[in-house]
Amino acid sequence: MSFQRLGLSAELLRAVAEQGYSEPTPIQRQAIPVVLQGKDILAGAQTGTGKTAGFTLPLLELLQEHAQGKGSRPIRALVLTPTRELAAQVGESVEIYGRHLPLRSAVVFGGVKIKPQIERLGHGVDILVATPGRLLDHAQQKTVDLSHVEILVLDEADRMLDMGFIHDIRRVLKLLPPKRQNLLFSATYSKDIKQLANDLLNEPELIEVARRNTAAETVAQLIYPVDKARKRELLAHKIGAENWRQVLVFTRTKHGANRLAKQLEKDGLSASAIHGNKSQGARTRALADFKRGDVRVLVATDIAARGLDIDQLPHVVNFELPNVPEDYVHRIGRTGRAGNEGEAISLVCVDELKLLQDIERVLQRKIPQEVVPGYEVDPNIQAEPIRKGRDTRRQQAESSGSGQHKRPRNASSKKRAHSRSSQATTGNRGGNRSTSAPKQRSEAKPARPGSRTPQPKPSKTVNQGSRSKNQIPALLG
Ligand code: AMP
Repeated sequence: MSFQRLGLSAELLRAVAEQGYSEPTPIQRQAIPVVLQGKDILAGAQTGTGKTAGFTLPLLELLQEHAQGKGSRPIRALVLTPTRELAAQVGESVEIYGRHLPLRSAVVFGGVKIKPQIERLGHGVDILVATPGRLLDHAQQKTVDLSHVEILVLDEADRMLDMGFIHDIRRVLKLLPPKRQNLLFSATYSKDIKQLANDLLNEPELIEVARRNTAAETVAQLIYPVDKARKRELLAHKIGAENWRQVLVFTRTKHGANRLAKQLEKDGLSASAIHGNKSQGARTRALADFKRGDVRVLVATDIAARGLDIDQLPHVVNFELPNVPEDYVHRIGRTGRAGNEGEAISLVCVDELKLLQDIERVLQRKIPQEVVPGYEVDPNIQAEPIRKGRDTRRQQAESSGSGQHKRPRNASSKKRAHSRSSQATTGNRGGNRSTSAPKQRSEAKPARPGSRTPQPKPSKTVNQGSRSKNQIPALLG
C-alpha cells in the first residue's frame, strides 16, 4: 500500500517522499485515514513504529484543509509529550512533514529559557508541541492561549502517567475547548490509561499495531555473563573486535554513565555521556556528534535516552540491567527501528541475576546467553545487593535535570506524586505549585534482598546461546 492512497495532499506526499519512505508503516496505514475522518483514536504503538508520522501527517492535513485566514493564528493543534527530547523530535517531524505547507509550529519544554518561547508563541503558531510542565508555566503567564485547539495529541501517554503528569494533563485539558479531536498514543494499556482514555476520548477508534514492539521484534538479544569488574573491558573488546561504529550503552546512573564514557575514552574509543545533569545544549551536541558518527559510543541513562530517535542504530548495550524490566524493552527498542535489524546485548554480572529473571518474566522467554572466551565468570564472586542509596539520590537529581520525575510503578494511584515537583520541563518554575518529591522508581524494589546471599553462578549457556531473534510479547490488552 502506498502513501498516495491514504488521502494526504500533494505537499505532504512530497515531504514523505523526501524522507525516503516508500510505504506507510502499519500504524500509519491504520491511523491516518481515521484521523482524517476527524475521529478520536486510542492507538497502541510505541517509538519505532512510525507513530509520529502516524499522527503528524493527518494533523497537518486537517489543519491545512481548514486553513485560517492570515493574521490571527491561534494554536489549533497541541501535542503533549512526556520529555523534552520527545517534544523536540516531534517538533522536528512537524517541521519536516509540514515543510511545504504554510503552517507554523513551536516546541516548548523546560530546562531552557522561557523568553524565546514566549516570543515565538507571540508570533502565532498553528501547532504547539509541549511538555506539560512548561506548557502550564506559559498558561500561568498567559503567554499561551489554548482556547482554539481543535486537535489534541497525547504522545506516549503511559510514560506521562508513569512520570506523574496526570494532574498536569488534567489542568491542561481544562484550558482546551470541550469540542475537539483527541488522539491518544500509548505503548501500554494500564488501568490508568484506560481511565484517561474513558475520560478523554469520544467514541474512539481503537488502533493497535500487530505487536507492541514491532521494532523490537527484529532485535537479536543476547546476554554475556561477566564479572562486574570486567564489564568495561569486555565492552571495549566487543566494540573493537567487532568494529562497532555506533553503539548506545545504558548505565543505571548518571555517575556510571560519566565514568564509563571517560574509561572508554581512555581505551581509545570516542565516547560521550548523555544524562539529566547535562545541559540541553550538551545533550543535543552529544546526540548530534553520535548521529554524525563523530562519537562512537553514547552512554546514556534510561531517562536521558527516552525518546531518542536515532535511525538505524545497530547496537544497544545494557552495561547494567535496568531496575525496572519494562525499561529493558524500551532500551532495546532503540535499535532495530522501522524494520532495521539491530542487536541488543546485556552484560550481566552475578548481582543482576534477579533483574534478569524479572526481565525474562516480562518477555515471557529466556534470553540466550553466550560466554566470551577469556571473560568467564569467577564462581567465587558472590552476589552483592545493587547499591541504591547514592544512586537513587543521583537519579532524583537527574529527574530534576531531565524534565521528568518518576514514581514507583507499583505505587497506588492515590499515593502518586501530585506535582511535577522539581522537573525541569519548567526550568524557570514560577507559581506556587506543590513540590512534593515523588519517590523514585529505583526505590520501589530491592534488587537483591538479603545482602551477600550467595547466588547461583550464571550458567554458561542457557538456551544454548543461539542468536535467535526474540519476540517481545505484547504488553497491550
Ligand atoms: P517513530 O515511531 O515515530 O519514532 O518513528 C521511528 C522511525 O521510523 C523514525 O526514524 C522515522 O523517521 C521512521 N519512519 C517513520 N515512518 C516511516 C516509513 N513509512 N517508512 C520508513 N521509516 C519510517
